[in-house]
Amino acid sequence: MTAYWCALAWLGGDGAEAGVLIELDGDRIGAVWTGVPSPPTHARRLAGLTLPGLANAHSHAFQRAIRGRTQRYLGGSFWSWREQMYRLAETLTPAISEALARATFAEMALAGITLVGEFDYVHHSDAMMRAAAAAGVRLTLLDACYLHGGLPAFRDDSADAWARRVDAIAAGPAAHVGAAIHSVRAVDPDGARVVARTAAERGWPLHAHVSEQPAENEECVERYGLTPLELLAGAGAVTERFTAVHATHITETDARLLREANAFCCLCPTTERDLADGIGRVHGRLTLGSDSQAVIDLLEEARAVELDERLRTRVRGTYPVPTLAAAATENGYASLGWPEGGRIVPGALADLVSVRFDGPRLAGTRPEDALESVIFAGGAGDVDTVIVDGREIVSGGAHATIDVAAELETAIGALAQ
Ligand SMILES: [Zn+2]
Repeated sequence: MTAYWCALAWLGGDGAEAGVLIELDGDRIGAVWTGVPSPPTHARRLAGLTLPGLANAHSHAFQRAIRGRTQRYLGGSFWSWREQMYRLAETLTPAISEALARATFAEMALAGITLVGEFDYVHHSDAMMRAAAAAGVRLTLLDACYLHGGLPAFRDDSADAWARRVDAIAAGPAAHVGAAIHSVRAVDPDGARVVARTAAERGWPLHAHVSEQPAENEECVERYGLTPLELLAGAGAVTERFTAVHATHITETDARLLREANAFCCLCPTTERDLADGIGRVHGRLTLGSDSQAVIDLLEEARAVELDERLRTRVRGTYPVPTLAAAATENGYASLGWPEGGRIVPGALADLVSVRFDGPRLAGTRPEDALESVIFAGGAGDVDTVIVDGREIVSGGAHATIDVAAELETAIGALAQ
């Protein structure tokens, strides 16, 4: 039997517990004991703070290739960034997508991410499945319906054609399939209704970009007399399986629709600030995403939700720290269709991440401040050990099978400059 003894572990409460013994039963957590003063001989020791595996609820893996390349020009916007992203997307083949995603998912593994929701409008699903398997992370492939605008490669002829294509994607034990509506710019109300019905019939999670930019709202109201969220709700999309990605510029009515449906709201603060979108607020259950891969660091996303709110309100402390930690773990898993993950309890998926306290950023952390220290001062570089499905995919901060920096360099270097 595999067992881990954690000096400190966050089990979902207000702070960390000391001396936590986690016994695995295959791919599940079998038993959890607290107050175990020292590691039993059969247990491997995890120093620092151990958390459930982190869930990256919103990713476009290929966008990792333009990190740092979109920062040079003054006076830009989301729309000028999108032009650069489209130029990259035009060059993608399944082989290029796979190499980029494999390296990017491995970078995510190093950051403690054990589950990624890949919002895929390039439709390289087989490549994404292979990439996630190689990187050792779980995947929910959110295949996006895209009917209007964008590039030809993004588009299906109809929502029914989208459904037939997605039905043909082979899921596996470590890879689930889900649905996405790219946005109300890309999918009309009739199309949204078909996607929502298909997702409901299959029990799939359903994600959509919502109100990232004011221009999207203005166009939608002018055309349909509805906000994007009102349109999606009218199409039957907004349920407890729905995730509104961004939801940056929404109305009080929109917020109420999310809360009443007990839907998820995925904030991607490092992308939203990079693209000058605005500051999102939490409505419904909070999840987090690295989205454009401006950085890959779920701890940074978690603290940004609170810190951005401090800038807006000049109040320190709107979101309790356990709420931020749950957003990065349990809520993200649930929003991607893995409700049995993201927690350290018997029966949960055996996905764990340990954050070391012997590096310069977190040295001197007191046990009673461990969770606050990790959320507010920790980063991807402090992740030491990552376990997915009971298997250690990262040890001592190194990936078990992939030279992550080298693969990123090769994959990005192979693109047209
Ligand atoms: Zn996105």
